[in-house]
Amino acid sequence: MNDSAGNRPRTKGRPRNNTGKYSCGRCGLKFNHGIANFPEGRLCLTCYRKATDTYGRCPHCGQHRMLPGVSPATDNPICAECAGITRNLHCKTCGKERRPYRGGSCATCALRADLYEMMGKQADVDKFAILTEALCAADRPESVLTWKLNPKVSQFLKFLGAGNFEWAHTTFDEYIRENPKSKREVEHVRAILIKNEALRARDYDLHAFGQWWKNKLQTVDSPSFRKVLNQFISWDVTPRINESIKDGRNTRRATHAAKQHVSTTIDFLNWLHSQGFEDLSRARQPDVDFWLTSGPSTRRNLRPFLSWTSRNGYTRKLKVPVFEASNHKLISKDERSYWIMTFIEDDSIHLHVRVAGLLLLVFAQPLANIVELEINDVTDLDGKLFLKLGSQAVPIPSPIVGLFRDYLDHRPNLRGANAGSSWLFPGVKAGRFITVDSIKEQFRKIGFTQFLGARSSSFEELLAIAPAPLVADALGYSYKSADKHSLVTNQSWAHYVGVRTKRETEQKEP
Ligand SMILES: [Zn+2]
Ligand SMILES: [Zn+2]
Ligand SMILES: [Zn+2]
Repeated sequence: MNDSAGNRPRTKGRPRNNTGKYSCGRCGLKFNHGIANFPEGRLCLTCYRKATDTYGRCPHCGQHRMLPGVSPATDNPICAECAGITRNLHCKTCGKERRPYRGGSCATCALRADLYEMMGKQADVDKFAILTEALCAADRPESVLTWKLNPKVSQFLKFLGAGNFEWAHTTFDEYIRENPKSKREVEHVRAILIKNEALRARDYDLHAFGQWWKNKLQTVDSPSFRKVLNQFISWDVTPRINESIKDGRNTRRATHAAKQHVSTTIDFLNWLHSQGFEDLSRARQPDVDFWLTSGPSTRRNLRPFLSWTSRNGYTRKLKVPVFEASNHKLISKDERSYWIMTFIEDDSIHLHVRVAGLLLLVFAQPLANIVELEINDVTDLDGKLFLKLGSQAVPIPSPIVGLFRDYLDHRPNLRGANAGSSWLFPGVKAGRFITVDSIKEQFRKIGFTQFLGARSSSFEELLAIAPAPLVADALGYSYKSADKHSLVTNQSWAHYVGVRTKRETEQKEP
């Protein structure tokens, strides 16, 4: 052992008290306590921290884990087992290989326990879980443990712990207005939440919308109509989204609506173009009425565009007449196609919501069954994905396979308590899948409500059609070309439907 190493002058900080009955097995520093049970003997605190902060692939056994040991042959970091370290470096609470921080638990678990203690009996368990997991996911939970001792921080965390607030930027704004001295601390919490995706960045939706419409503009056939649409989005649509950001309203909902308005407007403009119109000012109200009545009710999304063009002289005074609200519960083919397409294409909606929506629409699965699916119910065979429904494995149609694969890599709530969860839709609470209510709430936010109250009989029509033609239809493909890739036959689907119906009947029996 090289004794001189311990006497090397330190470059920063106060000089260490280099006396004691032990010397560090790695750096030679003298001390009275230190950390025992390392093959080199006791380690000083600095060497111990450095050792237990090292993670990577062990060159001896190839495992990816903590590398607290040192290979005698190469001096490279190696894992505890290969190094023969007998000290237990696993957290007593979460079982992960992490340096014990307090009472055998790692810093993350200690922090979680402290936060729980501090926030007490919270009114809202879900919000508490999001906040706690975001804070615990910090790169250095030790620093969060110290930081939360600040009274301004603990006061704010207690406020959040009470749970009587809306999970939105406005909550943070209001708190700062009432407690201006806590601004720095509150902004720090906000930044942690945004970084851990528990709160969306304020301008996220606007930014995404900007990307989206610039591409979308290319689908307008007529260059002169494209110019008008560009003006409409720049001077009417975007400022409205900006307003909602300033007001702290739900910007996601605002951008989603804006997308629907723009998409519908493009359909209208392309139709006008196909009818030989070269100048918007020549379009008359009967043309508008004809287009509106010869398509799905979603064409009413044309309203903002027409009121803007009418105000600004791009068209005559045109309007979208107010329709009688219909109260029929039947799901129209157009609405179904519209939502299948929206879930496939609209990146502004949470991925798990899109996948759940597609399972509902394409596979005609009740939400209660969807949330209970497990990751093992999806299998990959020769590059094709199959979904196990009941006793049958049904191929996932090719146009939605990409989305499914993407989702499998990005399931929600996998941080913290639900790490390694086998649910296809992991919930916020440990070991639980997402609740039907939370999915319904997400559906409501984007206006997808037609299917929520639907009884299973409303799905009869859906059940008659195999998934592939249904998706192909929604996307405007020809069924044959889609089917070639997805291997769904109406015969195999019919067989599955038979099984599903039988199972449901069995379940109804007392
Ligand atoms: Zn040392
Ligand atoms: Zn090893
Ligand atoms: Zn732990």
